[in-house]
Amino acid sequence: MMRPAEKLENPRHVGHREGVPTVVLLEGVAKRYDGGGALAVTALEDVNLEVDQGEFVVVLGPSGSGKTTLLNVIGALDAATSGEVTVAGQRVTGTSRRELFRFRRENVSFIFQSFNLFPGLTALENVRFGVDVTGRRNGDAAAIARAVLEDVGLGDRVDHFPHELSGGEQQRVAIARALATGNPVILADEPTGELDFRTGVQILGLLQRQAEAGTTVLVVTHNREISRIADRVIELSSGLVVSDGPPRGGKADISELHW
Ligand code: ADP
Ligand code: MG
Repeated sequence: MMRPAEKLENPRHVGHREGVPTVVLLEGVAKRYDGGGALAVTALEDVNLEVDQGEFVVVLGPSGSGKTTLLNVIGALDAATSGEVTVAGQRVTGTSRRELFRFRRENVSFIFQSFNLFPGLTALENVRFGVDVTGRRNGDAAAIARAVLEDVGLGDRVDHFPHELSGGEQQRVAIARALATGNPVILADEPTGELDFRTGVQILGLLQRQAEAGTTVLVVTHNREISRIADRVIELSSGLVVSDGPPRGGKADISELHW
């Protein structure tokens, strides 16, 4: 029989540094999918979280533990059933659809396991879309897109279409698209799930570097090894946060990873 998960009371996290703004705030957040009677699922239960600007957070948990639901609730792709979600100072819960569209555009960038590039657009056009969609546009969108692609090591692939790129290159385009938005929060759902080890490490390195530059990065994974390089590991079990703190055994250098 499965041991029921123990609930962790941790409204203010251990590693919080004074003076650093809170970018993600979850207060008593629950998410229930109402499948009708016996089919109803509680995907998240009373989650309390504060994530600082520039934190590199790994959300760890087995399949079905609520990781994707948590990211989707933070990024307002899905609405919490109860509780309060505040991201980049904006209250997400109780906000109109129209405002949420704008909220997402200006605050959160998603990276998915399956890359989710536009197949009919080149690498440059895909990344340019990331710049255009924010409407922030201070400068030449194409030049920004090109610079970010160079940053992720794809300067010589800008005119390639997704099908002409390897999985790792496609994921780097997706990361470039997320970075090009300049949004304060990056939410990555199993971003290395379809990549070989070496390429996965390269992708994690890019995300880690971006957090060092001040972006708040949440990476979801079921792979405990990945959590070793996090500033902070949030473990989910059956929709509950069961631990929250620095990686066990201390933070490892990315060169120490293997899986
Ligand atoms: P993870 O990403 O950790 O694998 P999910 O957040 O996708 O977990 O799912 C958590 C739980 O919620 C699972 O039991 C899943 O079956 C359920 N769930 C997720 N999305 C839906 C949905 N749209 N409708 C009903 N149940 C869902
Ligand atoms: Mg998932």
